[in-house]
Amino acid sequence: VKTIGVLTSGGDAPGMNAAIRAVVRTGIYYGFRVMGIRRGYNGLIEGDIFEMNLRSVSDIIQRGGTILLTARSPEFMTENGLKKAASMCKIFKIDALVVIGGDGSFRGARDLSKFGINVVGIPGTIDNDIACTDYTIGFDTALNTVQDAINKIRDTATSHERVSILEVMGRHAGYIALYSGIAGGAESIVIPEKGLDKDEIIRRIIDGKNKGKLHNLIILAEGIGGATELAKEIEEATGIETRATILGYIQRGGSPTAYDRVMASLMGARAVEVIKEGKKNRIIALKDGKIVDYDIDEALSMQKSIDEYMYDLATILSL
Ligand code: ATP
Repeated sequence: VKTIGVLTSGGDAPGMNAAIRAVVRTGIYYGFRVMGIRRGYNGLIEGDIFEMNLRSVSDIIQRGGTILLTARSPEFMTENGLKKAASMCKIFKIDALVVIGGDGSFRGARDLSKFGINVVGIPGTIDNDIACTDYTIGFDTALNTVQDAINKIRDTATSHERVSILEVMGRHAGYIALYSGIAGGAESIVIPEKGLDKDEIIRRIIDGKNKGKLHNLIILAEGIGGATELAKEIEEATGIETRATILGYIQRGGSPTAYDRVMASLMGARAVEVIKEGKKNRIIALKDGKIVDYDIDEALSMQKSIDEYMYDLATILSL
């Protein structure tokens, strides 16, 4: 292997730049040529590819987003698009491709590997919803953003003795909601894995009020939907003023936390080491505190579920 390509794909996440930096710097350190590919798989198909040097990644470790830009590429999911992407790898002599992104991006990488391109995935998504890894780059930064919002909402909700609903990201996974709910001391956490029990939420609000709580915080994962609707229903049922806040894209931006920068640096470096060791088609992961790598098929067939203990604990901690 002489040339490594690197791209970011799917939703952006804080820390992707730190991962790109680690891939470029370790790659060059070990004697590889490193090519940057802009706009994810779209850029690969179009040949939006350029050679990177040590200075290409200067001053980006602290920046959110991705300097390589990212995209969702429907064309890549067609036979023709995939073939074009594979032939671009050959034209630019890319022997190994590092893909920083989520589950969908890894499935795309696996398809590309069938054309003889060695692919290595680095988990980058704020959702922490990739089965093979305990951690995905961007999760900690997103949690800190949500926590900051909770602190602010708490101030005003307490002063007005209101119920607040905060809708956070997570279409299919409640990791952001669960972790930020614990970090922010939410009374109720509503996640797709557990479903919505309106009666239970209302009971907790009334119960909390009777116990002298000045406000009540509900964290809702977007996958379960309708924060504004739920606010109306709660207000009607309890007579307590209820406000919904949808946090949205704020969660995807911002300077990555120290933890995200360290994880991105370790995972980025590991991706290059794996290529150097001659391994083929791997996904980098954090498992029990260690950086490891899995076969891509094995990684994509894994399942992970929400921590039941944490979910139950959140209720006890907000009694
Ligand atoms: P996130 O969930 O954080 O947005 P992701 O990588 O899962 O990240 P997707 O939009 O699902 O984001 O995937 C990014 C791109 O990867 C898609 O636009 C598509 O080109 C490719 N891709 C997604 N799913 C598949 C699949 N099942 N098979 C092949 N390619 C896929």
